[in-house]
Amino acid sequence: MKQWVVGNWKMNGSLSMVSDYVPALLDGLLELSGWERSLRVGICPPSPYLGMMASKLTGYPVEVGAQNVHPKPSGAFTGEIAPPMLRELGVDLCLVGHSERRQLFGETDEAVREKLSALLEANLTPIVCVGEVLAEREAGRHLAVVERQVQGALEGLPPERLAGVVLAYEPVWAIGTGKTATPEQANQMHAHIRALLAARFGAGPAAGTPILYGGSVTPDNAGALLAQPDINGTLVGGASLKPATFLPIIQHSLS
Ligand code: PEP
Repeated sequence: MKQWVVGNWKMNGSLSMVSDYVPALLDGLLELSGWERSLRVGICPPSPYLGMMASKLTGYPVEVGAQNVHPKPSGAFTGEIAPPMLRELGVDLCLVGHSERRQLFGETDEAVREKLSALLEANLTPIVCVGEVLAEREAGRHLAVVERQVQGALEGLPPERLAGVVLAYEPVWAIGTGKTATPEQANQMHAHIRALLAARFGAGPAAGTPILYGGSVTPDNAGALLAQPDINGTLVGGASLKPATFLPIIQHSLS
């Protein structure tokens, strides 16, 4: 399986940042010859920059991702963006269930499931984010919480559709805090998620499902995380905002 590296800009950036970032990223990637054979690299900028980012990346094997989507294809949903609209802009990926959306915007497991299904319908790759808060880990409930989120997101998913799904384990206490899960903590959860997938879809499909780790990933800790057997890539917030910190993470993903 290819390793994944996906950057989540959250609500950061500007048109000029997109203009400066894309050529710097592409120049850096050019130095990693053959990277596209073993990696999938994506960037999720805020929605107003998706079209510009996608057009600047046309013809390059770097994918563009949205950070949110509405599950309906059109309709009276003021302020929302539909999956076919993303597709039309040249978007390939979309985050679903990011902890900031769950915590700040009330995104439920049911909403995550609806969005996942709508994205697959529109030929977009959902990156489903799951993860426990600190109190849940301290209470020893982290495995159960993530299990509920994974089962909730994938309930009713036709088995043949799993191949289009990416999961991301992002412990909430590690997001934007500078605290990272240890490689062993992260791998334990990844292995747990994979076992859930295997029980539901079979060992082969489970082994083929990318499970990314996110939460304060930096050039310094990426190597140790990526060395874990069940970690198939990284979802990077803060460190994806500058090619100078994102590129070394991409480089670690190659080795
Ligand atoms: C994220 O936004 O998904 C994330 C993991 O952020 P950070 O890398 O800044 O912790």
